[in-house]
Amino acid sequence: MQKKNLLNSKYNIIIIGGGAAGFFTAINIVEKNPNLKVAILERGKSVLEKVRISGGGRCNVTHACFVPNDLVKFYPRGERELKGPFNQFCSGDTVEWFEKHGVELKIEDDGRMFPVSNSSQTIIDCFQDAVKKLKIDVLTNHSVQELYRTESHWKITSTQEVFTCEKIVMASGSNPKIWELLETLGHDIIEPVPSLFTFNIKDPRIKDLMGLSAVASVRVKKSKLQASGPLLITHWGLSGPGILRLSAWGARELADKKYQFAIQVNWLNEITFEEAIDLLKEIKAALAKKIVGKYAQFKLPKRLWENLVRAADISEETKWADLNKKQTTALAEQLTNAEFQVYGKSTFKEEFVTAGGIDLKEVNFKTMESKVAPNLYFAGEILNIDAITGGFNFQNAWTGGFIVADNIVK
Ligand SMILES: Cc1cc2nc3c(=O)[nH]c(=O)nc-3n(C[C@H](O)[C@H](O)[C@H](O)COP(=O)(O)OP(=O)(O)OC[C@H]3O[C@@H](n4cnc5c(N)ncnc54)[C@H](O)[C@@H]3O)c2cc1C
Repeated sequence: MQKKNLLNSKYNIIIIGGGAAGFFTAINIVEKNPNLKVAILERGKSVLEKVRISGGGRCNVTHACFVPNDLVKFYPRGERELKGPFNQFCSGDTVEWFEKHGVELKIEDDGRMFPVSNSSQTIIDCFQDAVKKLKIDVLTNHSVQELYRTESHWKITSTQEVFTCEKIVMASGSNPKIWELLETLGHDIIEPVPSLFTFNIKDPRIKDLMGLSAVASVRVKKSKLQASGPLLITHWGLSGPGILRLSAWGARELADKKYQFAIQVNWLNEITFEEAIDLLKEIKAALAKKIVGKYAQFKLPKRLWENLVRAADISEETKWADLNKKQTTALAEQLTNAEFQVYGKSTFKEEFVTAGGIDLKEVNFKTMESKVAPNLYFAGEILNIDAITGGFNFQNAWTGGFIVADNIVK
């Protein structure tokens, strides 16, 4: 890099990263103090790329959970630290903020909130209009390479320019290069691992059942991890809210297991093995002359029921009346305690995040300022904070950005 020839530009505040957290911070800073000169440096050709693809192109902006102490429970990493920040800027404030900026949000049945337009472009347009109006410089193709602190200011070297500023906001998401730079400033980085993934499973019981779902509970064997909720059978294995929750809470533990572990699925969710035996006996009495595999029970999808019956070694012709004790036990086992071997993970296309990042002990959560280097602030996924799916990851970006802005202008 030819540093000598690089242009030198001055700003009051430089934001590194043109994603959700970077834009939200920049807009809030200049709205609060229009006299501040602010730039966003983005390494890519375009900005807000994750916002664009988020929520399957619809952008799940936040979640209809408006009480800070309830909201924090969705964050496997950051639960304790986010209590204070959510008391300053919570999901209700997000709804209000977007409304004030001309974007109406709607609540879906599961609590996820999207723009009424059902398009992430609405959020991008809202941010782009605001930076234009507020005269915030958005500099793309500026990959930050170096950070250097003098007594009075910061120097930032990007691939194109050298910048001088009073304060830096790090909003670069989960980016290893920036974490390395921050390590040189004395920050500790919690090792990054993926979160929000689905489980790869090859098993005859779920083969060719892609798209079927059932409300079930899942336990990871030799672990305390368990979750319940709709379980979705995919081409590769199992997905759905329950699996994603396990992947988030177990992000580190499952990485340690190299994504090779066994799970136990209770397809009947809260019904225990013993209760299943009793219920099967009742069905046997009621449907004695009917073929076991023919009519699905417990509201399970028919083809899944057929596969579980087959896995319990019950032939296609067997009638309920002929079911022996061994077969009844085997069926109850398949229904409430079906073991599957997971041999890897796949990306959940609608949303994924990284667990890991800046050690939360090194951040003042009243201001989002670094405890290691003054005048250095953090917002978004760069921190060791992440949540399950549902709009919570963006909420972390909005909350962090708002608090940074509030404190920078003070
Ligand atoms: C497919 C997908 C769908 C998702 N859907 C949702 C959803 O619907 N709801 C939800 O809550 N969450 C969702 N998430 C998670 C959410 O997108 C992130 O948590 C959020 O984008 C984090 O925002 P951020 O600004 O911290 O980081 P990012 O959005 O990652 O932005 C960081 C920016 O910094 C830039 N950058 C990195 N290094 C440098 C550098 N050296 N110099 C300059 N710039 C740099 C990057 O190019 C990037 O543009 C989704 C994630 C994915 C991958």
